[in-house]
Amino acid sequence: KEELNIIQGALELRTKVVEEVLTPLGDCFMLRSDAVLDFATVSEILRSGYTRIPVYEGDQRHNIVDILFVKDLAFVDPDDCTPLLTVTRFYNRPLHCVFNDTRLDTVLEEFKKGKSHLAIVQRVNNEEKGPFYEVMGIVTLEDIIEEIIKSE
Ligand code: ATP
Ligand code: ATP
Repeated sequence: KEELNIIQGALELRTKVVEEVLTPLGDCFMLRSDAVLDFATVSEILRSGYTRIPVYEGDQRHNIVDILFVKDLAFVDPDDCTPLLTVTRFYNRPLHCVFNDTRLDTVLEEFKKGKSHLAIVQRVNNEEKGPFYEVMGIVTLEDIIEEIIKSE
């Protein structure tokens, strides 16, 4: 029955979209681009337990400009108080975006092809001032695998 559930879950990837499984922006652990990698910040990053951390500019959490990988901290000495920008500029990790209505099987294919297993989820917001891309949150490979194995 376990196997059947997994097959069912895999089949359901065709009927579900990113918006149903994303982690909302408000729940994301992120860093401001002007952060300094001092002891307090590095501790907070490690305590968060996340491997990939979106970096946003200014006060606008939707303005995601980079991703920090925790492994990028390997050569960072907290005593040096290195600016986060120094590290993100050095590694220059690519940002991947997907639209909210992308099917999960499509995103899974993209995760398999690409190197990153995290994507920023956007939707088109049709405000009267004109449409713009609104960041809704993030989705990772884990969120999709969860959909495959949880189904009953
Ligand atoms: P990994 O398992 O590759 O070490 P991780 O544990 O940091 O990575 P994932 O396993 O990719 O994270 O995802 C686990 C859950 O956490 C998913 O629901 C994902 O959307 C969410 N998630 C990932 N990164 C963050 C983050 N920076 N802030 C909040 N939630 C996150
Ligand atoms: P208003 O002034 O009508 O209250 P705003 O212009 O202050 O709205 P801001 O949040 O300041 O809205 O954002 C400024 C610009 O940033 C917007 O015009 C829009 O293009 C973009 N923006 C706003 N929210 C998002 C979002 N969630 N994701 C991406 N871009 C956004």
